[in-house]
Amino acid sequence: MAEERLVPTGAALAGLPTLGRSRPSKDKDLKMETPVLQAPGPTISVEQENNPWLAQEARFNEAARRLNLDAGIWKVLRYPSREIIVHIPVAMDDGSIEVFTGYRVQHSISRGPCKGGIRYGPDVSLDEVRALASWMTWKCAVVNIPFGGSKGGVICDPKSMSQGELERMTRRYTAALIDFIGPEKDVPAPDMGTNEQTMAWVMDTYSMHVGQTITSVVTGKPVSLGGSRGRREATGRGISVVVDQALKHLNMLPSETSVIIQGFGNVGSNSAKLLWDKGYKIIGIGEFDGALYNPAGIDISELLEHKARTGSVHHFPGAQPFDQDDILIQKCDVLIPAATENVITSHNAGKLQCRILCEGANGPTTPVADDILASKGIFVIPDILANAGGVTTSYFEWVQDRMGYFWTEDEVNQRLDRIMVDSFNDVLQYSVAHSVNNRIAAYMLAVDRVAHTTRQRGIYA
Ligand code: NAD
Repeated sequence: MAEERLVPTGAALAGLPTLGRSRPSKDKDLKMETPVLQAPGPTISVEQENNPWLAQEARFNEAARRLNLDAGIWKVLRYPSREIIVHIPVAMDDGSIEVFTGYRVQHSISRGPCKGGIRYGPDVSLDEVRALASWMTWKCAVVNIPFGGSKGGVICDPKSMSQGELERMTRRYTAALIDFIGPEKDVPAPDMGTNEQTMAWVMDTYSMHVGQTITSVVTGKPVSLGGSRGRREATGRGISVVVDQALKHLNMLPSETSVIIQGFGNVGSNSAKLLWDKGYKIIGIGEFDGALYNPAGIDISELLEHKARTGSVHHFPGAQPFDQDDILIQKCDVLIPAATENVITSHNAGKLQCRILCEGANGPTTPVADDILASKGIFVIPDILANAGGVTTSYFEWVQDRMGYFWTEDEVNQRLDRIMVDSFNDVLQYSVAHSVNNRIAAYMLAVDRVAHTTRQRGIYA
């Protein structure tokens, strides 16, 4: 059963004053509301720094304040426009019935249909999905593609579920959202814990409901079912392009640049392989249960074979085992967190020894850590720019599905490279023009673009 929440609810759930519900009757109430809209910067307490929704909101508020955004548009963009919660019954292999809780949050349709992945994991929460949905809005705007942002998630442990259980859960989750997704409404994609197979099940379930095959309802599908060539590697490819650009900007050379990557899943392994192919020295790989370190460089091709053969990066003969927390603070030129949120916080930001931090994951750095990184002069390539290669190639997949005409991998890659280089330069120029760090520059660029279309469309009465 789907239960749709009308917005705004974000601030209320986050324990913040809720805006715009009723006209304040006393001066005192007015004073209470004003400081929220004119907050002096991305301030967030150390206790709250791990809440991704508050982290997103702090950066959004800072960008909006610097843009002098008018109060009405500020309120519109601050909240997701729709939040859906579903409780989905699934027949398990042992004959029992389990009920899983799932979410779909649609933040904005101002610039086009919503676009955003589906995450499966035990720690999925509404605040996390909310933050990820907003980040998708800003990310699509940074790379200037015609989508708004959304995200979905189901609280489950995909590693402990059989393929049959995952398929039944995915199909029931899709059925529960059937009225809210679609090529012109909201287009899901894979995220942590989901993959091409998950997208094939979503596509098939949606197609069965509408009575015809609609490949463009999801992206990140298998190429044989309307997926785009290059999509699997796209996020890593985008990361390798923006790292190249940062090196040029800082007068550094790939052959003299060492890299540490956290996470060896889709984003981490593809970033590692593409950077290694370009001559970068990958000296560390972190995973949730241990890390690898070799100051002379790790052969990524051999590591990929090792992982395919054994199922993990551990016991790889070409590197020494290392602590998963300490790997982040080892000396390197480029650090790429490509696993999950909140790994660079007030606790370890001061110990980082990298020159460039390129955020492959969504939300790996907390706002409190941002200030510490700035004081250390670390060049940050923020998530909404750095990992936008994935959604950009998802956009190409959606375009190709709707045309029914498919591009070569070279065509996909060339178009992706151009967008990533242009977007990197746009963010850098914004940062110089407004004297802000790269993260706030990326948010300002995005919020400005979304605010512009919101004003142009007007508010439907
Ligand atoms: P994935 O599930 O393929 O890989 C994640 C990897 O990180 C796994 O190897 C996992 O073991 C590891 N990991 C998980 N928690 C960890 C921890 N605490 N410490 C170290 N390693 C840990 O997921 P993915 O698709 O590669 O996504 C990774 C991140 O990139 C997520 O934040 C996701 O939202 C973001 N992202 C993904 C894409 C994409 O196209 N897949 C696009 C943009 C952003």
